Amino acid sequence: MSRASIAQWAKELYEDLDFSVVRRWRENNPGRKAIGYLPVYAPREILHACGCLPVGIHGGGDRLEIIKGDAFYQSYICHLPRSVIELGQSGRLDMLSGVLFPSTCDVIRNLSGMWKLLYPEHYVRYIDVPQVADPRIATDFWAGELRRLLSDLGELSGHVPGEEELRASLALYNDLRQAIRELYAARSEAPWTVPSEELYLLLRAGELIPPEEFLAKIREYLAAARAEPGRMRDNSRVIVVGSFCEQPPLGLIKTIERAGCYIVDDDFILGNRFLVEDVPLEGDPIEGLAAAFIQSAVKSSVVYEPDPEGKRTLLKAQVEAARADGVIFAAASFCDPALLDRPMLKDGAEKAGIPCIAFKFSENSGQFQQFREQAGTFSDSIKLWGGV
Ligand code: SF4
Repeated sequence: MSRASIAQWAKELYEDLDFSVVRRWRENNPGRKAIGYLPVYAPREILHACGCLPVGIHGGGDRLEIIKGDAFYQSYICHLPRSVIELGQSGRLDMLSGVLFPSTCDVIRNLSGMWKLLYPEHYVRYIDVPQVADPRIATDFWAGELRRLLSDLGELSGHVPGEEELRASLALYNDLRQAIRELYAARSEAPWTVPSEELYLLLRAGELIPPEEFLAKIREYLAAARAEPGRMRDNSRVIVVGSFCEQPPLGLIKTIERAGCYIVDDDFILGNRFLVEDVPLEGDPIEGLAAAFIQSAVKSSVVYEPDPEGKRTLLKAQVEAARADGVIFAAASFCDPALLDRPMLKDGAEKAGIPCIAFKFSENSGQFQQFREQAGTFSDSIKLWGGV
């Protein structure tokens, strides 16, 4: 398949709010369960080892009118939870047998409580991702949580995986993260050949299909990208920070690049890249998965940072690694974790002489003119003066 046809395939999955691909998977795999998970990090290896299809739930974006969802949440908080409720209340998530709610923020924690009340037939699990300074205590705690999840899902699916099956799932997700790293590296190397719009659509499609298929599709896309290099433009290189949970509308990602800013790193769908290093395949697989989280979780607004200066030095390191010219802070409106961190991140970046701009979005934002002007001016100012 060509790059364009893979992107088109991914776009069709992204736009399909009926999750037809998940429904088809269930029809073709009778008796097996599909389990949803909210952002940011869920241990999908365990779902896979139990024979379940992990399904990323990211809201309906700008393609879903909120009718019932507004009755459940205050109007001033981020858009994601009302959008997820709307998906649930309209029956679009009825192919799921359960949903995992990671401890990303209070909003998602509250959503887990609502889900329990609204959908008593679903398995609902609040996943208490560790936030403690002592690595030994954190690893023991997280291994205990993972074992409980394994036991629950083993019961739900009717399949309790042995150690070898767990290791096979760990190895598969190691390969998948490696492929995603290669995809990001290819974009950073030649962003005109791997446009962020296509990379993003591929990641979104990957939230809906089995990991084996996602891995094959990334490899196919990379081969197609190598065979069809795009035409380089005189754009600036930026990293986008703050979009780790509620996702920006596709139009916003396109707008940033069309306004003259190549995105060379980002935190879209960060759960895909949450573990920076491979999970070890020797020893107890659950211990290995727990330790990998504690030792190599990506530095982000949803993980405890023990170093008081850590948030201030983070962007300098990221910008250098990506050879970026500047930073665009793009967070969902009223996103507590992203907006609480932003002053520290911005302060550190500006002290390091890195140009920054900031805006807020909602997943259903439909007007991009102001973003186009901001990103366009930012790119021009970087090219003219190295900053704003
Ligand atoms: S967008 Fe931010 S505030 Fe809203 S659910 Fe996600 S992390 Fe929480």
